Amino acid sequence: MKIFNTMSSRLEDFKPIVDGKVSIYVCGPTVYDFIHIGNARPMIVFDTLRRYLTYLGYDVNYVSNFTDVDDKIIKRANEEGVSSDEIAQKYIEECKKDMADLNMLPATFHPKATEEIDGMIDLISTLIEKGYAYEKNGTVYYRTRSFKEYGKLSHKDLDELRSGERSILVSGEGEKEDPLDFVLWKPKKEGEPFWKSPWGDGRPGWHTECCVMSKKYLGENIDIHAGGEDLIFPHHENEIAQSEAANGTTFSKYWMHNAFLNINNHKMSKSLGNFFTVRDIGKQYDLNILRFLMLSAHYKTPLNFSSDQMEQAKAARERIIECVRSLNAKIDNSKENNIANNPDVASDIEGFINQFKKAMDNDLNTADAIAAIFDLVKYTNKTIDNISISDLEALKNTILQLCDVLGLIVEEKEDKLEDELQGLINQRIEAKKNKDFELADKLRDELRKKGIEIKDTRNGVEWKRI
Ligand code: AMP
Ligand code: ZN
Repeated sequence: MKIFNTMSSRLEDFKPIVDGKVSIYVCGPTVYDFIHIGNARPMIVFDTLRRYLTYLGYDVNYVSNFTDVDDKIIKRANEEGVSSDEIAQKYIEECKKDMADLNMLPATFHPKATEEIDGMIDLISTLIEKGYAYEKNGTVYYRTRSFKEYGKLSHKDLDELRSGERSILVSGEGEKEDPLDFVLWKPKKEGEPFWKSPWGDGRPGWHTECCVMSKKYLGENIDIHAGGEDLIFPHHENEIAQSEAANGTTFSKYWMHNAFLNINNHKMSKSLGNFFTVRDIGKQYDLNILRFLMLSAHYKTPLNFSSDQMEQAKAARERIIECVRSLNAKIDNSKENNIANNPDVASDIEGFINQFKKAMDNDLNTADAIAAIFDLVKYTNKTIDNISISDLEALKNTILQLCDVLGLIVEEKEDKLEDELQGLINQRIEAKKNKDFELADKLRDELRKKGIEIKDTRNGVEWKRI
């Protein structure tokens, strides 16, 4: 598999540090409101990466945090007159519901920043001891120029950065040794959550938490660190500066960043107000359609969101669902089918699987992977009438498996009647056989009271929930 590594700015062969195992850290959302569908893009993309690596046989350890202490959370808490903790807890739960509806597998670990403060204090102490950080009036700063490789991820030059940083001096941070230095620990302000530290009561800066959580749950060297492209600078650059200075080793082998989800070619964001929450979209559409839409573009291509696009995604996904539905009907109605297995079908299926894998191996090209699934769907629609049951089943299983690698659900759930209700239907069939129509009518009424309507048809008894 090839992955575009932001660090080297090129496609690289993916080779994990430990054979057969992959560690992935994805920077998670700041939980001060419902997540918007822009936030959902990295979630869907990297969940798909995880699913694909698992499909290839890797043992994947996937960690994604919740940032549950932050200025935005504090602001929201003050507006609502509740604690920051209440806001964070509430939106973590809401976010988890959205993630489940987007068919994301739960992370191996979902750490929260507020539960890792001790680790952050340890990291900051180490950086001070090693000369990479200093304290001034209760604030700890990272001495950016002391990390010689600063800028290597974002490919920024320190001196260019400096000329762009004058505004920081104006904003009253003159106590820094250098305008480029960034905050690791800030002193508490009235009404804000705080923790005790060697530098006084306060809270950590945002960039420190991921270093600590990544190391604790995945180790000092990880395979893949990921997030949206706005995190390259300063967030990931600052994470590298801290982790590599403290641990003396490469933080992450590969850095992956998704492009933005846009609206009218502008980044969807809370601050611009041009956003839809996942929850809102979920009221109008099955969220698996949103997942389909996100994966129909390569993750490094900006994606413009519109209702037209959603409608197209809905119709496209429906074509796969329709094909699976036909396969199911065909399998059910072909019990007497004596057609022999056709070796061409097995080898054609192999070809579609290879086409799918080739796309995914090419830096997770989910757009081409979906095209491979559509080729398989077209092939299925063409061959469905003249093949054996086991070939039908092989086609169905392949479609379901490839869709599942993308987290796409394309088989409608079979609505199975509860045992008790099925028992009543069976009793009624028996009663009718025995010409006990009184009992049959009583059973029909009982079923209706329990919310089931039955109809006697040529093909037998059909039922539906009322
Ligand atoms: P935040 O809660 O702002 O820290 O964002 C959480 C994740 O969502 C980060 O990986 C961001 O890069 C990503 N993100 C935020 N807005 C967008 C967007 N419009 N398109 C794609 N990714 C985004
Ligand atoms: Zn992070």
